Amino acid sequence: MIDSYKHIGLRMALVEHLRKKGIKDENVLAAIGAVPRHFFLDSAFEEHAYQDKAFAIGEGQTISQPYTVAFQTELLEVKPGDKILEIGTGSGYQAAILVYMGAKVFSIECKRKLLVRAKKTLALLNMKPTLLFGDGSIGLPSQAPFQGIVVTAAAPAVPPALIEQLDEGGRLVIPVGSLEQQRMLRIVKKNGKPVVETFDFFAFVPLTGKFGWKE
Ligand code: SAM
Repeated sequence: MIDSYKHIGLRMALVEHLRKKGIKDENVLAAIGAVPRHFFLDSAFEEHAYQDKAFAIGEGQTISQPYTVAFQTELLEVKPGDKILEIGTGSGYQAAILVYMGAKVFSIECKRKLLVRAKKTLALLNMKPTLLFGDGSIGLPSQAPFQGIVVTAAAPAVPPALIEQLDEGGRLVIPVGSLEQQRMLRIVKKNGKPVVETFDFFAFVPLTGKFGWKE
C-alpha cells in the first residue's frame, strides 16, 4: 500500500476540517495528519478515505467517522506512556491513532475476521499494539489499571467493570444511550469515585457482550 502526496494533502485538508469543527488538541490533530486512514479501508472506498464519514469494514461494522475518532481521543487526554484500553478494534484505525500518540495500547474485538485484518494493517505501519479477541464489555482486568479506556460501540449503560479498571485520574470515554443515538460520556476517577461529564450525541454500532446489547 502506498501513502502518496495526494493522500497526505487530503489528510491535511481533513485536519483543517476537524480544527474548524472544534478539535483543539494538537497531538490528536497531528496523529490524524500522520496515520494513513486509507490503509484501514477496503480498496473500494480508498478515494473517500479522507472524507469525514464512517465506512463499512465488513461483518456489519464500521470504521468511525474521523470527527468521532478525534472527539473521543481528545476526551481521553492521552499522554505518552499511558496505558489505554480500546473496546472495539474494528479496522484498527483508532488503535493506530493512540499508538502514534505514544500510548501503550490494548484493544479488544469480538469479530475475529476484523481482528485478523486489523493486525495485518497495523503491522504494515510497523505498529504492534496488543490486539485481543473477546468480549471487551468486561474490560481487561489482567492489565488494569488503565489511564484511559475508550469504547467505540454504543453501550446501553456504563459497564461497572470498566470504572473499576480505571486508574486514579483515569478517563473512560463511552457512548451511552439507545440503539439509535447515544450521548458521549467521559467518566473520570477522582479520589476513587466516578465523576461523569456529558457531551454531544453520536450514533455508533451496538456494543455486544455481557454489558452490551443482547444479539
Ligand atoms: N475503533 C474502530 C476503528 O477504528 O475502526 C471502529 C469500531 S466499530 C464502530 C465498533 C466495533 O466494536 C466493531 O468492530 C464491533 O465488532 C466491536 N464490538 C462490539 N461489541 C464488542 C464487544 N463486546 N467486545 C469487543 N468488540 C466489540
